[in-house]
Amino acid sequence: MGKEIVLLGAGYGGISFLYTVLSHIPSDVHIHVIDRLSAHTIKPEFYALASGSLNENKVMAPFPQHPRITYIQDEVEEIQVYNHKVIGKSTETHFDQLIVALGSVDNYFNVPWAEEYTHSIQSFAKAMKTRKAVDNLPEDSRVVIIGGGLSAVEFAADLREQHPTLRITLLERSNQVLPTLPERIQQFVRTYLEDSDIEVKTNVGVTLIDDKNIHYSFENKCMPYRLCVWAAGIKPHPVSHALLAYSNADRLNRVVVKENYELPYYENIFVVGDCASSEFAPSAQLSNIQGKQLGQYFLDSWQNKQFVPEPIKLKGVLGYLGKKTGFGMVNNNILLGKIPNVVKSGVLWMHKHHMG
Ligand SMILES: Cc1cc2nc3c(=O)[nH]c(=O)nc-3n(C[C@H](O)[C@H](O)[C@H](O)COP(=O)(O)OP(=O)(O)OC[C@H]3O[C@@H](n4cnc5c(N)ncnc54)[C@H](O)[C@@H]3O)c2cc1C
Repeated sequence: MGKEIVLLGAGYGGISFLYTVLSHIPSDVHIHVIDRLSAHTIKPEFYALASGSLNENKVMAPFPQHPRITYIQDEVEEIQVYNHKVIGKSTETHFDQLIVALGSVDNYFNVPWAEEYTHSIQSFAKAMKTRKAVDNLPEDSRVVIIGGGLSAVEFAADLREQHPTLRITLLERSNQVLPTLPERIQQFVRTYLEDSDIEVKTNVGVTLIDDKNIHYSFENKCMPYRLCVWAAGIKPHPVSHALLAYSNADRLNRVVVKENYELPYYENIFVVGDCASSEFAPSAQLSNIQGKQLGQYFLDSWQNKQFVPEPIKLKGVLGYLGKKTGFGMVNNNILLGKIPNVVKSGVLWMHKHHMG
């Protein structure tokens, strides 16, 4: 009997695996892809879905078609390692080999009621829900964005362009926005946000969120809000936790894997993307490379060749500030203004149209 490969998630890591193996799937191998959505989605643009500057079809690309690839649209709920089964909301799927590429979810860092009262841009459905809520806001409403990282500042700037009458505040825990990027970029972005009438508050640790107020800092200050969007951090998809019995967690709770992305203590289960441990922070770029490398491992094993992974080299970071400007650091060069915006559009366009 041939091999049944089950791929969970066809986002950045999953789709790059698929495109790498697409033209070489052996005749006795079948790939079952389980995703809650019916198309590949471009997660880095979910902030624009939520702000209303992009429509659904702009952040989607069709799945590649092949006679030995089947797509199952379902919500994955559990991996039963010993039974070699994936349990979904309405399906059960047997696997000989399993690839987990389910991405990440919001990390609420145990802040009480944050999950209940905030909106999110972390999944397609949640970004759409946020967009609907934003569209229904009366003029002059206060929107508070919690977090000052890449997705939070991109969302704040785009929301301002789309909704000029909203009062927008961004709360960041550390002493500057984009805390992992160089000071010049931090200053540029902060000035841009403030010049765009976005209030930026740093050194703000949110302690509790109720239905009307965000409570923060040690002095129990609070800020009223009409809509609050949580963009303060991520953690690996909870379905991947079952795999930690056969591996270890890194400091971000990602599953530690071998250099071929297999679990260290269980054969034929592989993890890529935001769920997989790496020396690098989670990103679309990293997931894409990991998916390609895993695809290469499968190609090599189908041809009885030895897999020799290339060292991972990331190009850098690019961020949008609305439709015209942006920031970035590419090959250690700081880019500010129009150029990083155009380069990022090009990178995302290439991803959407030339995934093969
Ligand atoms: C607003 C925003 C902006 C970002 N900007 C950038 C950027 O500029 N550059 C960058 O490099 N990274 C960026 N990122 C991070 C990047 O999007 C992720 O690191 C990357 O998408 C992770 O790839 P992945 O394959 O692990 O998961 P994903 O690409 O998220 O794919 C996961 C797949 O699993 C599916 N799925 C999830 N749960 C289930 C389930 N229970 N059942 C079935 N299917 C499921 C999803 O539908 C999806 O298709 C951004 C993220 C966000 C939210």
